[in-house]
Amino acid sequence: MHCPFCGQADSKVIDSRLVAEGQQVRRRRECPHCGERFTTYESAELVMPKLIKQDGSREPYNTEKLRAGMMRALERRPVSVEDIEAAITRVEHRLRASGEREVPSRLVGEAVMDELKELDQVAFVRFASVYRSFQDIAEFRAEIERLENKGK
Ligand SMILES: [Zn+2]
Repeated sequence: MHCPFCGQADSKVIDSRLVAEGQQVRRRRECPHCGERFTTYESAELVMPKLIKQDGSREPYNTEKLRAGMMRALERRPVSVEDIEAAITRVEHRLRASGEREVPSRLVGEAVMDELKELDQVAFVRFASVYRSFQDIAEFRAEIERLENKGK
């Protein structure tokens, strides 16, 4: 950590404690060069990337919106709340694992489709028909045909 006073590359940690209910580490540091003291705060970055929509605008990721979309597709389907929540967690993990600050919003749609495909085929088709009507109709038809052929 560079000293903010003189720019010296190293500083010595003289005190370290957990703050914000353990979510942050507060470190008191001293510069061995100029003797100034300063404080740094560290926290794990678990920020979800922003979503880049098709028109190029950005919007913050919203769990509620994701959950609502999945619930709509899963309405009256035999899937437990636990399974849905686990699927949401996996979708969010995938977004975070990208390590990007911004990702195309279609990545979310694709991740949800992958999850629904495993959870419930009817929900998958419902979600895909809504989602893909804004994307690629031909690709969607091909997907439905693949599913129908699989059932034979
Ligand atoms: Zn210094």
